[in-house]
Amino acid sequence: QVFVVGSFVVACTVKVARLPRPGESLDAADFLSEPGGKGFNLAVAAQRLGAAVDGAFVVGEDAFADVAAAAFRRQGFPAGMLARRPGSTGGGVGFVDRAGENCLAVSLGANLSLAPEDLDAAALARADLVMATFESPDAPIRAAFAQARARGVETLLNASPARPIDPAILARTRTLLVNEVEAADLGLLDGDGRAEPRAIEALLGAGPECLVVTRGAAGAFAYGGAGPQVQSAFAVPVVDTIGAGDAFAAGFAVSRLGGCTPAEALRRAAACGAITVGRFGALDAFPTATELDRFLRE
Ligand code: ADP
Repeated sequence: QVFVVGSFVVACTVKVARLPRPGESLDAADFLSEPGGKGFNLAVAAQRLGAAVDGAFVVGEDAFADVAAAAFRRQGFPAGMLARRPGSTGGGVGFVDRAGENCLAVSLGANLSLAPEDLDAAALARADLVMATFESPDAPIRAAFAQARARGVETLLNASPARPIDPAILARTRTLLVNEVEAADLGLLDGDGRAEPRAIEALLGAGPECLVVTRGAAGAFAYGGAGPQVQSAFAVPVVDTIGAGDAFAAGFAVSRLGGCTPAEALRRAAACGAITVGRFGALDAFPTATELDRFLRE
């Protein structure tokens, strides 16, 4: 069972020939409004891969809260996973251009009120993996990870969007996953995108057993445990890159949970990312375990 310290955002995306300039109105080909958020995406991507999922999510009291409730029902997630409280549900607005490049702005709203009291103790106690992203505040992540590590349970932090990592969270993070931009912000890559071995050693000394850095079409690398590992990206036609990082994170975590070595988990994670960039949107783009196995055989 996977427990997600979650975030929920309704993402509205339009597909445009090129990204708009300030002051410009563009015609857009497709419009997609999709339930998402890094936490919700992780939960759905993990479930697609066959994991039983529980977690803690907060939405506001508005029309998007109903969208959230419907989305959780559709996934068959436990009803107790979602709390409503006064305020706005998380919302995002984004553009995707022909090359699959995207930009997105997110207002986290009610997600920022997620608190340790929102964590269901029984659900947490059943978990054998706890995952979180930085769309959630530090306090519930710290509480959930502390409980997990006290039982020797795996934890994965996708430290996205970037912010300094609370040392108490870092100390209880088994796998830290970041993209290149976030890795650079943390001082783990130099200005040219090369790994900074000393900064990485220091980070690994502060808690994580494994650091994974994703690099878009350049693939990913990992440090720690079995030593440095490099995984190239699978060459696929790109529709849009939304959700690639979430698919990768879920792929890595669920594969490790299933007993894969770090190298094999990296390969499966990269395949999850590749399948997701080949499809429009995020939720419907995440592969099932069967699709992942078929992709890896081809
Ligand atoms: P994020 O969406 O968090 O910025 P990345 O863009 O680094 O994450 O993508 C995560 C992973 O998804 C990459 O490590 C890679 O394995 C896969 N991926 C991303 N973009 C592509 C691409 N254009 N082609 C193939 N795989 C990709």
